Amino acid sequence: MLRIHNSLAREKQAFTPIEPGKVRMYVCGLTVYDYFHIGNARTLTVFDMVYRWLTAAGYQVKYVRNITDVDDKIIDRANKNGEPIEALTSRMVAAMHEDCDRLLMLRPSAEPRATQHIDNMLGLIGDLVTNGKAYPASNGDVYYAVREFPGYGKLSGKSIDDLRAGERVAVDGHKRDPLDFVLWKAAKPQEPHWCSHYGEGRPGWHIECSAMSRAELGETLDIHGGGWDLQFPHHENEIAQSEGASGKPFVNYWMHAAFLNMDNEKMSKSLGNVFTTRAVLDKLDPVQGGEAVRFFLLRGHYRSEINYTWDILQDARGALVSLYTALRDVPPAEFELDWTEPYAKRFFDAMCDDFNTPMAFAVLFELRNEINRTRDAKLSALLCALGGTLGFLQADPAAFVQGEAAGDEAAEIDALIAARNEAKKAKNFAEADRIRDEIKARGIVLEDGAGGTTWRRA
Ligand SMILES: [Zn+2]
Repeated sequence: MLRIHNSLAREKQAFTPIEPGKVRMYVCGLTVYDYFHIGNARTLTVFDMVYRWLTAAGYQVKYVRNITDVDDKIIDRANKNGEPIEALTSRMVAAMHEDCDRLLMLRPSAEPRATQHIDNMLGLIGDLVTNGKAYPASNGDVYYAVREFPGYGKLSGKSIDDLRAGERVAVDGHKRDPLDFVLWKAAKPQEPHWCSHYGEGRPGWHIECSAMSRAELGETLDIHGGGWDLQFPHHENEIAQSEGASGKPFVNYWMHAAFLNMDNEKMSKSLGNVFTTRAVLDKLDPVQGGEAVRFFLLRGHYRSEINYTWDILQDARGALVSLYTALRDVPPAEFELDWTEPYAKRFFDAMCDDFNTPMAFAVLFELRNEINRTRDAKLSALLCALGGTLGFLQADPAAFVQGEAAGDEAAEIDALIAARNEAKKAKNFAEADRIRDEIKARGIVLEDGAGGTTWRRA
């Protein structure tokens, strides 16, 4: 039985999907104006883990993650670059896919783009205006009237009056209440815009998720996920829009991934500690890097903040290499995963307890120790299969363990061979034999031929 911490209920609850055996999951995706940073990578990887685990646990999952391809940041960046916004966004979508692939994420079942759902957004806005939850203002904007939605604040746990006192809300003469938020923005010159009943304009950010989740998954979702910082106002506004229009519950289980901090500080532009995921990956070994970062991102529980430093990342890489080393030394036997096996059962129970990856990973390390002690090929197969449910341990173990060392080591071996040839020329046979033994100890076989000495791994 799977239990999920529901941010709306503020407790762990037994997971019961709307349709038995099926899960409708929506996650707020990226705004594609730049490469995504390592904090975004955490949220994306957490929900990839959730998607993989739900699938491994036997659910048929429809996983929808949207792409925001029109907003202020995109318009500003495209103007700065002097390129059309479609050129910028298609480049950034391609880059997003490359970086997600490097982190071994599965593609979602659907990745709807905001600009492809303008009609759905206008349909939803129309429903809200008709039932009195939204109003067109004299400036051509359409606003959501938060006072007309009694549940406003239930996710963030604040009343409208608390929110008004606590948030810096801009006074805007066109709004009835300062907390009212924009659903449709009147067109400004030089900005992308679409025709509507309210005049030319473009959608606000919040409406896209309500419209795209309704189009892709229906009025009620099983799981809605996103970063912790999206709870307010974005998810609060999504609830107001979706429930305000349908009169039905929007989401049964809200999940939020906690922050990633940079060396114990919040990631922020002003501190200069915002690293793009690709910059981090490019500093790492190309064989090990993606999986190592993935391992680092999932090693902490998704509801706990995690800390990024280069040393912590290297430590995670080393831990992952130790799992692969066990697989290299004891090649997995033919095998079928049986969840009643004691290690497998503990892994399963940990993952079904609100996706407790730290506990599940602890089982993997116990298994590694047991493999190293017993050389049992069945346990090796079990380690590989359990890791595989979360997207780990599927590379060739020998190649993974060699990783970046492979290139450096090759140069070292070539240098040793040259030194051995020098020793032979000088008739220092003891030294030549010593070097040959040193090379042999590295698992390298030398082959002396007419064209000189070549080597291969034993
Ligand atoms: Zn969203």
